Amino acid sequence: MPFMDGITCICDNGRTLEDHRAIVGDDIIREIYRKAASLKGKRIVHINSTYQSGGVAEMILSLVPLMNDVGIETHWKILNGHTDFFTVTKNLHNALQGQPLQISEAEKDLYVRTNRDFSTLLEIDHDLVIIHDPQPLPLIQFCAKKQPWIWRCHVDLSKPDEALWEFLKDFVLQYDRMVVSHEDYCRANMAMEQKIVRPAIDPLSDKNRELTDGEIAGLLAKYGVPTDRPLITQISRFDKWKDPEGVLEVFKIVRERTDCRLVLCGSMAPDDPEGWTIYRRVEEKAKDLIEQGDVILITAEDHLLVNALQRVSVVILQKSLCEGFGLTVTEALWKGRPVIASRVGGIPLQIEDGETGFLVDPTDIEGCARRVLQVIESPDLAERLGTAGKEHVRRNFLITRLLADYLDMLNAELGCGQEIPT
Ligand code: UDP
Repeated sequence: MPFMDGITCICDNGRTLEDHRAIVGDDIIREIYRKAASLKGKRIVHINSTYQSGGVAEMILSLVPLMNDVGIETHWKILNGHTDFFTVTKNLHNALQGQPLQISEAEKDLYVRTNRDFSTLLEIDHDLVIIHDPQPLPLIQFCAKKQPWIWRCHVDLSKPDEALWEFLKDFVLQYDRMVVSHEDYCRANMAMEQKIVRPAIDPLSDKNRELTDGEIAGLLAKYGVPTDRPLITQISRFDKWKDPEGVLEVFKIVRERTDCRLVLCGSMAPDDPEGWTIYRRVEEKAKDLIEQGDVILITAEDHLLVNALQRVSVVILQKSLCEGFGLTVTEALWKGRPVIASRVGGIPLQIEDGETGFLVDPTDIEGCARRVLQVIESPDLAERLGTAGKEHVRRNFLITRLLADYLDMLNAELGCGQEIPT
């Protein structure tokens, strides 16, 4: 597990690029070494606002050791802010995803001031800086910029609150490049380069590695998840965009037709203060179902548990109303499980309807329930979707592909030629 040393996150997991050879093959590994050769000795820093409980942390956690392994000295710093700062930034996040926002001058001031204060703790003498998401976006204003800065935005920017975007755009335009996860998230009228990089998962992490039957049984027992009935699972922060309440509605319909259990597993991210509010709302709505043992809510942060739940569930749901990419979908597909998910954001990049899973309209509760029942009642279909989904992830969404994309970007920004190593 990663740990913090001041504002630095230490995350050496001991894995190397060589460990991925058996999964992705010689050609991909050779290509990565080739792209990395011209970057040897360069120093890079990633900055975001949490080292756990979310897709961004998940990716940086695996990327940093691999970048170091291929010869790029890579550091990871975490912006420290108080709850009121993260309340503001969660509102910014929601508004970037389309929720109208009235942001006060005091809130803007808190946002910018927290970044200014954090900048005094930072020593940036790197060759390149990568800032993730809106929380540390204004940092660029307070650091003497001597190198390329990249803003890597992971949220769905297709329909932001326009006034907020105008406010943030002043910071964004100070960057050399903006990177998003989907073509639809590129912004018009930006005098800067915008690039698309798809997210990815680490097949060797605790979240995704193979587990033995004994490990799975031990984890489920530890968290009180019985397996006497088929499990339907959604792994997601308790967040309105993940629609846990909609999942409950789907489950109620399915439960009338077949004996099953719902698990909602969502750890609490330190940079997401809304989590407990949403959790309590779900808990209240599911009170009777929880008492009957039909619904299980989990808030633990345990990557192995997520892995185990994804492996044993008959169906994985991702009923998001909005989704930057949806790494939980990638993770579940990698386990060969049938996934039923909303046709929003980055999910259709991963699920081809009827081929690698099923897509549903995000507000269509009945339609989603029908698909769940269809998959539960046809194991052959479940197996076919799962097998195709896993192969789709192997080809497109593994961390080695993400590493290669980053290396291309660094080579372009740092003007390094790509030399073939001898
Ligand atoms: N996650 C987790 N424990 C939980 C809930 C989520 O480890 O209880 C992880 C999940 O496995 C995935 C990430 O958090 O790796 C969520 O990424 P995603 O892109 O799906 O959504 P985000 O939270 O970034 O909006």
